[in-house]
Formats: sequence, C-alpha cells, structure tokens
Amino acid sequence: MARVLIVGAGVTGSLCAALLRRQTSGPLYLAVWDKAEDSGGRMTTASSPHNPQCTADLGAQYVTCTPHYAKKHQRFYDELLAYGVLRPLTSPIEGMVMKEGDCNFVAPQGISSIIKHYLKESGAEVYFRHRVTQINLRNDKWEVSKQTGSPEQFDLIVLTMPVPQILQLQGDITNLISECQRQQLEAVSYSSRYALGLFYEAGTNIDVPWAGQYITSNPCIRFISIDNKKRNIESSEIGPSLVIHTTVPFGITYLEHSIEDVQELIFQQLENILPGLPQPIATKCQKWRHSQVPSAGVILGCVKNPYMMAIGFPI
Ligand SMILES: Cc1cc2nc3c(=O)[nH]c(=O)nc-3n(C[C@H](O)[C@H](O)[C@H](O)COP(=O)(O)OP(=O)(O)OC[C@H]3O[C@@H](n4cnc5c(N)ncnc54)[C@H](O)[C@@H]3O)c2cc1C
Repeated sequence: MARVLIVGAGVTGSLCAALLRRQTSGPLYLAVWDKAEDSGGRMTTASSPHNPQCTADLGAQYVTCTPHYAKKHQRFYDELLAYGVLRPLTSPIEGMVMKEGDCNFVAPQGISSIIKHYLKESGAEVYFRHRVTQINLRNDKWEVSKQTGSPEQFDLIVLTMPVPQILQLQGDITNLISECQRQQLEAVSYSSRYALGLFYEAGTNIDVPWAGQYITSNPCIRFISIDNKKRNIESSEIGPSLVIHTTVPFGITYLEHSIEDVQELIFQQLENILPGLPQPIATKCQKWRHSQVPSAGVILGCVKNPYMMAIGFPI
C-alpha cells in the first residue's frame, strides 16, 4: 500500500489530503503530521478555557471569493456552503476594501472548521505534536524524522508549511532543492503580526455598531472584530469574543518580546480605541511570525507552487 505523508494540518494540508483520497482508487495510507496541538494552522480557532463554545478566529477572518474563483472553485464553495461550514458574511465590517464582484464567507463554527471538514473527509490519520526535523532517502523511501519518536518511511511527502519552515528541514531534502529554487524560496517574505483573543462571560454587552473594523490611525492595532457577531452566532448563553490583530510594523518591532509584554501593550492601545471595555475572563495572545505573503508574484520560474512541495513525484 502506498504511504503518503502530508506535513501541516492547515487548509492546504487538509484539502490536499481530501483531494488525494478522492482521486486515489487503490489502497492508500494517508497521514497528516503537524507540530501544533490542533488543526487549523493559520486558520486557527481558539476556545475559551471556561467554555469551549466561546471561540475566536485568531488567524484568517473570512474567505474572499473573487469572480474568477467563484467559477473555478465552484464545487468547493458549493460543498462548504451545503455543509454549513461557510456562510456569506453579512455583518458590517467597517473599512473593509471590497473589489467589485467579490464576496466574503465566514465559518460559523470557526474558521478551523474548514480544515476539520476536509481532514474528516480524507480519513487521514492525523497526528499532532509531530514536528518534522529531517527528511532522508533510505532504500528508495523517504524517511521522515520528527523531534521525538522514531522516524517513519513514506513513498510520497507533501510539505505545506510556510517556506522558511521548509528551508529549516535537515537531511537529504536539502540536496533536493536546487540552488535556483533555494534562492527563489529564500526570497519569499512574510509579514509578522500578533493576534489577541478576548473571551467574555455570557451576557456581556459590547456595544458597537460593527462586527469588525479596520483601524488606520493606531500604531499597534490594525483590526478588531467582535468575532461571534462577525460569524452571526450571537447567543445569550455564550459570551462574546473579541479578536485584535496588530499592525505589521508593531508585529515586526515586538517579534522577540514576551507574549505577556505584547499583550499588555495591545491592551493599552485597545483602551484608546474602545475605552471602558469589560474585563475578559480569558485571553489568548498568538504570535504570527509567518503571517501572510505580501506579494506572491515574485516566486516564479523554478518553483511551481510556493505553498506546497511534493517529494516523490512531480507536481
Ligand atoms: C493574522 C492572519 C490573518 C489572515 N487573514 C486572512 C483572511 O482574512 N482571509 C484569508 O483568506 N487568509 C487570511 N490569512 C492567511 C491564511 O490564514 C493562510 O493563507 C492559510 O491559512 C495558509 O494555510 P496553509 O495550510 O497553506 O499554511 P498554514 O496554515 O501555515 O499550515 C501549515 C502547518 O504546518 C505546520 N508546520 C510547520 N512546520 C512544521 C514542521 N516542521 N513539522 C510539522 N508541522 C509543521 C504548522 O503548525 C501549520 O499548522 C491570514 C493569516 C494570518 C496569520
């Protein structure tokens, strides 16, 4: 039986797993490994420690569908809408720049439910706390080492993590990437930012007329969302949640500072934007070292797809 490993349980890894399963007729052992403790990657949804139903999307906020992809990826959108994984974004987001013909979708159960949907469909064995460190060639198989535990062998490996994390891998994989490819991969740059999730008690009222707001006048805060309102799941039994994204300059400046210090700075700035906010019952501050690729257009030529690398067969 062919053994396939997908590294990364984000949207790319989970969709890749589902598509491999759909398109493979023979027997296939499919595994997904991720260094994190849950699936989602940069589409993560955090939960309040007091109530797992009180959730906050700390990474991606919504999915924007352009007219081009509405046609090209119609079956994916149709499926996710039919399963209730996605719903059109109807709540007001102030300052959002919309291009003509675009439409936005939110995930009512949290953006990570997209990933959970595809992982479930794929039937893959999903392992968390599996950080890949080395990939070597042994007797025509790819031997994958992780930080703890024994190495395992696969026929095909698909790497879906951000490019800098692919370039950190050791072993024979380093010889597999040509100098030209390496240079181009090294040229991929990512923005960095922090996200802060605030979880409130049921019944807390956050009295603002919007569900989300882009901020242009603050050095620290770029975006605020009343996350449950954005996803249209307001309820008297579940407390509201707030998500704050910092600006990229702030993210870069404080990249190596402690999470506690960064959280304090964000709170101070939040008080200027939303004075008198109630006290949250829980918080979660997340550093996104590799947040988004400002321009993917630079990666051309040797590397076919900068977001996904497959070892074992040509993609
Ligand atoms: C703050 C923020 C806001 C965003 N907003 C939006 C938005 O509104 N709309 C939108 O469409 N996109 C948005 N994005 C971008 C979007 O989240 C990403 O493009 C998308 O989630 C990338 O998915 P991926 O599966 O390719 O990579 P990732 O989600 O990064 O998944 C890679 C996975 O690989 C794992 N991994 C890394 N190294 C290893 C290793 N050595 N071993 C094992 N596992 C490893 C990671 O833990 C991770 O789970 C945003 C991103 C951020 C950070």
